Amino acid sequence: NDEETSARVAAADADTGGPTIYDKIIAKEIPSTIVYEDDKVLAFRDINPQAPVHVLVIPKSRDGLTQLGKAEKRHGEILGELLYAAKIVAEKEGIVDGFRVVINSGPTACQSVYHLHLHVLGGRQMAWPPG
Ligand code: C5P
Repeated sequence: NDEETSARVAAADADTGGPTIYDKIIAKEIPSTIVYEDDKVLAFRDINPQAPVHVLVIPKSRDGLTQLGKAEKRHGEILGELLYAAKIVAEKEGIVDGFRVVINSGPTACQSVYHLHLHVLGGRQMAWPPG
C-alpha cells in the first residue's frame, strides 16, 4: 500500500557505492537462510517475504553493480550467472513451473539496498501489473 511504499522510500539507502547490509550477509556476520551458493552468487531468503517463496539472488562481488541501471557491458557475465541462479533457486524451491523475478533499480522503483539483487518470488498466484 501507499503507506508502506512511503516508509520504504524514506528508509532507503542512497546509492553511494559504499558498503551495504548485504556485505555482512555475504561475510556471514549477519545470519541468513542460504538457499543456493556458488563462487560468484549467493541466494538467501528475504527477511520480509512478499510471497511464500521470496529469495534474493546477489553477486558476491558487487563490482560497481549497485543497481541494474548502472550496469556496464563488462557485467554481462555476472548478470547471466544471476539470472541462471534464479532458475536454480526456483527449481530447488519447487516453483520452477511459475515464478517471478524482479529487479528494482533506483528510488522510483523502490530499490532500498544498493547492491544489485534479483527477487525470486513464487508459491502463490501473482497479479499483473505489479504495483
Ligand atoms: O529491491 P529492494 O532494494 O527494495 O529490496 C531489498 C530487499 O532486501 C527487501 O525485500 C528486504 O526485505 C531485503 N532485506 C533482507 N535482509 C536485510 C535487509 C533487507 O532480506 N537484512
